Amino acid sequence: MNNRNIVNPDLEFIRRLKNLGGDSVKKCFQCAACSGVCSISPDENPFPRKEMLWAQWGLKDRLLSSPDIWLCHQCNDCSRHCPRESNPADLLAALRQYTIANYAFPRPLARAMERLAYLPILLAVPVLLLLVDLWIRGRLDIPTGDVLFLEFFPHFHIALIFLTAAAFAVIMTAVGVGRFWERINMHFPGDRIRNGKSVGSSLLATGVEILSHSRLGECKENRPMHLGHLAIFYGFLACFFSAFAMFLGVHILEAEVSRDFFSPLKILGNLGGALLLVGCVLILFNRLWPGKNKTRSQYRDWFLPLNLFVVTLTGFLAEAFRLMELSTGAYSVYFLHLVFIFLLVCYLPYSKLAHIAYRTVAIIHSKLFGRYEVDSKTAWRTGG
Ligand code: SF4
Ligand code: SF4
Repeated sequence: MNNRNIVNPDLEFIRRLKNLGGDSVKKCFQCAACSGVCSISPDENPFPRKEMLWAQWGLKDRLLSSPDIWLCHQCNDCSRHCPRESNPADLLAALRQYTIANYAFPRPLARAMERLAYLPILLAVPVLLLLVDLWIRGRLDIPTGDVLFLEFFPHFHIALIFLTAAAFAVIMTAVGVGRFWERINMHFPGDRIRNGKSVGSSLLATGVEILSHSRLGECKENRPMHLGHLAIFYGFLACFFSAFAMFLGVHILEAEVSRDFFSPLKILGNLGGALLLVGCVLILFNRLWPGKNKTRSQYRDWFLPLNLFVVTLTGFLAEAFRLMELSTGAYSVYFLHLVFIFLLVCYLPYSKLAHIAYRTVAIIHSKLFGRYEVDSKTAWRTGG
């Protein structure tokens, strides 16, 4: 019987991976130090050594259906210990971006998100939408008198533009993640579930892991990343809850909602904003001065924290200008604030932010399969 496996390398795939930051993949000589040092890699079929091999061979299908590449939190422990400087953490990051683009719809939008040259076009969409809205309402001039953002852009108009953008993002993310889920299940059919965990308990365990960011916390070598992610996660939740509660109070319950600086909802929103700023600064510092972590940053790595940073900063500045009654500054900065929120929300399925959905799906899958079980006695942790 002929047991030979035919390997058909996808050369275009290898070329794209190199462009996305996986340019050192060929240097890997399969010593497995990376898999040994990774504190969250499972004992059975650990990563990222096997992904290095698959990428060298151009095994695109296998990599695109791998949940393992999403279990990695890019702490860079593996790259730091790689004797060949093959940067496995960068390869996994490149694979994640490739996966997002591969399953995205429409795909050209995902490719546009990978290049700075397309940023002006992506920005032009919200700028034009907001300008058209102002033009239709005859509000193209900067209003004088008290600064009232709600008169500049009424809640209904904001809701129409941003809920449409959010609905687009949710549907497109669901399309991409649905395709990914289908592919991973082709490689891990149901009858291979071996630890018998129910869907309910897997979902619960996934929720707990996301709330605590516990896996990222296990990467001891990169504390700023962990703290930065936690600050952004909880900062975002606080801002979202504050804005949502205000909208609900004003428009659904028709209640008197105080916008005073010291009102509870404003305090919550400002605390959330402060957490977001701290998180973005931690992550941006970590990218600017990676130190021993050897993080190599691509355009996509800068896009998300910078976008979030600009959203938060313009939010605070608009508020400050409003309190100082500087109407030109307040309305201009508020306009920018809305533009960058749109950039963050509408293009979520194509940016690094899509990892929220892809990683969640991968974690659920891994919990169902017991893929996460790490034996602390056998895993090699150098720690230094
Ligand atoms: S990536 Fe580096 S550490 Fe990992 S197997 Fe290859 S050479 Fe070894
Ligand atoms: S970057 Fe960190 S989590 Fe990812 S494979 Fe390397 S050591 Fe593991």
